Amino acid sequence: MIINADLHLHSRYSMATSKNMTPQTMAYEAMKKGLNLLATGDAFHSKWLEELEDNLNQVDDTGIYESKTPNVSTKFIVTNEVEDNERIHHLLIIPSLDVAWQMRDEFRVKNMDADGRPKIRMSGAEIADVARDYDCIIGPAHIFTPWTGIYKSYDSIYECYGQRVDFVELGLSSDTILADTIEELHEYTFLTNSDSHSPWPHRIGREFNRIELGDYSFEGLKSAIKRGSIVENYGINPRIGKYHETGCINCHKIHDIKSAIKNNMKCDCGGRIKKGVKSRIDELSTIQEGRHPKNRPHYQYLLPLAELLSVAHNKGVTTKYVQTRYDSLVEKFSNEINVLINVPIEKIADMDSNLANIIKSYRTKELNVIPGRGGQYGFVDYS
Ligand SMILES: [Zn+2]
Ligand SMILES: [Zn+2]
Repeated sequence: MIINADLHLHSRYSMATSKNMTPQTMAYEAMKKGLNLLATGDAFHSKWLEELEDNLNQVDDTGIYESKTPNVSTKFIVTNEVEDNERIHHLLIIPSLDVAWQMRDEFRVKNMDADGRPKIRMSGAEIADVARDYDCIIGPAHIFTPWTGIYKSYDSIYECYGQRVDFVELGLSSDTILADTIEELHEYTFLTNSDSHSPWPHRIGREFNRIELGDYSFEGLKSAIKRGSIVENYGINPRIGKYHETGCINCHKIHDIKSAIKNNMKCDCGGRIKKGVKSRIDELSTIQEGRHPKNRPHYQYLLPLAELLSVAHNKGVTTKYVQTRYDSLVEKFSNEINVLINVPIEKIADMDSNLANIIKSYRTKELNVIPGRGGQYGFVDYS
C-alpha cells in the first residue's frame, strides 16, 4: 500500500504555533491536502497527550491512530521533535501514545510541559540511546537549518550520535540533489516533512513523503524507513530559502564565500554578509551533483497550491479570494496533491487557466529559481 505521509508537525502546545493545531483541524486539513498519515507532534507534552487520547483511537495494536470524528479518514502516528543541549533538533517517531507517556520520565529536562518541542539537557547520543530503548525511529530534523540543524555543529551524523540512526530529514533548506553531494548521506533514507506550525493549506504537507508500506502500522513504517521504501519525496525547492546563497543582509547582493571571508563578512555597502546554506553544503560535499545511491527516490519540487493561486492571481495567500478558489479546486478534484500532480492540465484550465499554466510549468520543465540570500526569499521566475 502506498500512502502520503507528513511526519513532522507541531501542536498548539509548541512555541509560535497556531491555536488551531488541534487533532480535529489537523485531520480535516490533511484530508483536503491528500495526506493519509499525519504526525501528532509534541507527544511528550502531557496536555497534548490527553487531547490526543480524547480524540483518537488506536487501530488494533498497530501504533496507528484514527480520529473518533465520523467521516475523517486521516490517520495519525505518534511523534515528537526535541532540542538537545547543543540546540540541535531530533525527530522521534514513537510506537504508541502509551510509550510516549513512559518516555517522558527518561529525559533530563526542567519542565517537559514548558514547550511541545522540549529542551532536553542531554546530548544527541543520549537521546538516541533512549529512543533505541523504546524502539523508536529517530533521525536529525532539517539537517541544514543554520540555527538548529545537525550540520551547524557537526561535520558528520555519526559524530553526533555515535551510532547509526534511521533517517535524515532534509528540511525546507535542502533537497536530494544537494544532500547527495555529501558522501555519508548516501546510506540514509531521506524524509521530507512540513514541520508545520499552523493548519493553513500552504503549511501542512508543504513537504511530504510517498511511502510504500507492507503493513499499515508503526512496525510497517519502521521497516519501510529502514529499507528505504520511500517512493518519492516532495518538497519546496531549497533555493527559494532566505539564506540559500551567501549574501548581504542589507543590500542582498550575493557574495562568493571566500572573498566574503577575506573581507571579514562585510559587503561594499557596509552591510553584514550572512553565510548561506549552500556554502555550508559545499564545505561538506565530496561528490558531484547528480550522483545518487541506487535506490534513491525521485525528489519532486512542489509549491503549495494556495501559493500558486496567490501568484496566478496576484493576491495574498491567506486572502478570501485565494482560499475560496483553493476550496473549490479541492472539492472538485478531491484533494490538493491530486491537483498538483495528477489532474490533467486541461481539466484545471477549465476552472482556472492562469493556474493551469503555472502547474504545467511545474510538471514539465526546469523552473528558473532566483535564489534567496541574506534573509531575502528567493522566488520562481515564471516568465
Ligand atoms: Zn526543528
Ligand atoms: Zn550589501
